[in-house]
Amino acid sequence: MSDTESYNLVLSGLIYDGTGAKPFEGYVGVTGDTISYVGKEKITGTKEIVAPAISAGFIDIHTHSDLSMALDGRCESKLFQGVTTDVSGNCAFGPVPINRERIAEHTAHLQGMDFTGGGYQESDISWNDLNEYRATLETRGIAQNNAPLVGHGNLRIAAMGLKEGGAKGADLARMAELLERELAQGAFGMSTGLTYVPSRYADIDELVALGKVLKKHNRVYASHARDYDILGDDDFFGVVNEALEVGRRSGVRVQYSHAAINQPHRWGMAGKWTDIFAAAVKDGVDACFDVYPYDASSSALTQYLPAWVQADGVDAMATRLADPETSARAERDLAKGWGALEIPWQWDRVMLSATEGLLDTKAGQRIDAAARERNLTPEHLVLELCRLGGNRVMVVLFYRTEEDMRTFIRSPHSMICSDGSAIAFKQSKALPHPRSYGAAVRALGFIGRQKHDLPLEEIIYKMSGKVAAHMGIHDRGVLAVGKAADIVAFDPATVRDQATFTEPGQPPIGIDYVIVNGQVAVAGGVQSEVRAGKVLSAL
Ligand SMILES: [Zn+2]
Repeated sequence: MSDTESYNLVLSGLIYDGTGAKPFEGYVGVTGDTISYVGKEKITGTKEIVAPAISAGFIDIHTHSDLSMALDGRCESKLFQGVTTDVSGNCAFGPVPINRERIAEHTAHLQGMDFTGGGYQESDISWNDLNEYRATLETRGIAQNNAPLVGHGNLRIAAMGLKEGGAKGADLARMAELLERELAQGAFGMSTGLTYVPSRYADIDELVALGKVLKKHNRVYASHARDYDILGDDDFFGVVNEALEVGRRSGVRVQYSHAAINQPHRWGMAGKWTDIFAAAVKDGVDACFDVYPYDASSSALTQYLPAWVQADGVDAMATRLADPETSARAERDLAKGWGALEIPWQWDRVMLSATEGLLDTKAGQRIDAAARERNLTPEHLVLELCRLGGNRVMVVLFYRTEEDMRTFIRSPHSMICSDGSAIAFKQSKALPHPRSYGAAVRALGFIGRQKHDLPLEEIIYKMSGKVAAHMGIHDRGVLAVGKAADIVAFDPATVRDQATFTEPGQPPIGIDYVIVNGQVAVAGGVQSEVRAGKVLSAL
């Protein structure tokens, strides 16, 4: 395009195009919502942005923004980092499908992914399928794009409620039918959360059967792996192998979710883990994994209870724990340690991050200290919080090492994610894990500039082009003519996260402009009124 007037927007600087290629000084031209020029030749436009660096908008491959984005379309935590697309619906918690007759079960299930402490209401979930979800979000207005996965937990609840055991016969057929429906409406794949009720009830045959449905439509299987200790043995690598085995037997593309080593006696084994993964890829399994650049995790407290305590969902759990004798037995079992392998708990490493003020607890308190103050055992406090708050009680666990995390990031098979949500900076009821506010910029600043673990273009590739290719987000992820104009202007010399565990809701430094579908969403640290985001389609 040579007519200079036809560019609405021109960005110039060091161009990181999202392919992993070395950056070059150049120009990106935008016409409407589409990139219409990328190159070294000078172009001019109606609006011009000059910045130290220009990159393809970041795609966060592992998020839980499905409901948060529906409730608050500003998407502050992600947008200010330059994340222009969130892949939502991970860990079995998806926006769809919803079976209206089981809305109470769906709502209780999805609580586990609310990081704001506000809790979800049945009325927050007004849609039943992806078309309705898309219409709802786009009518309300969202500031960034959303590429949704189907939640395996949603599928199970919609098809068979909270029934235990691997799905078979009519139940499995119904799940496959619902999955087909959502894929036909553009879902990018399906996620499991094999430590969570009810996704954890799936056996490998069920996963392979659903994997075959995904394969038929060329979509992705995202696997939040089982706890090896639930398998009752010490085969730590068995859970990686299970995810890869689903790929092997069904042919589906696999995305292994949030790789981590959470057990003190296994710290330092990330290299062995990535070797196993690399061997499977060499063997022909089409697989990648994601990792977030922190040495702490976060989730609902309930998932750390003994399996029998969690069985049949939060209502059944609360009823069970209300009986003093059963509660005492649960306390004894929990005190034995984490999971069937009984790895000793270090309660000083577990921080409450959303408590609803139950038992006068506050976000930010460590469980050992909170229990001591109340003259309770840590296990008793944990059980009481779960009984009263269900999946709404959230914790941050400091159970990982920086070395392992950085080993995962350096692997050629990894992508960088947040495992967080698009949420507001101001939170009154919770201290969400800082990953929601800082993961992408922390990868650039801490992993890239400070630690020199990878060149910046490779870090960006793991947050843009590589993600788009693996997830089947065909119209974005790289700066190229014809692609959607999702673009970030930033300063490689200063970019960094400011979000901490005690003050997470802080905007990053060094992100100058964020463009979503050709429109300026953030300029100079201020968000515009524009809500240019879309719920994307894999079709
Ligand atoms: Zn997960």
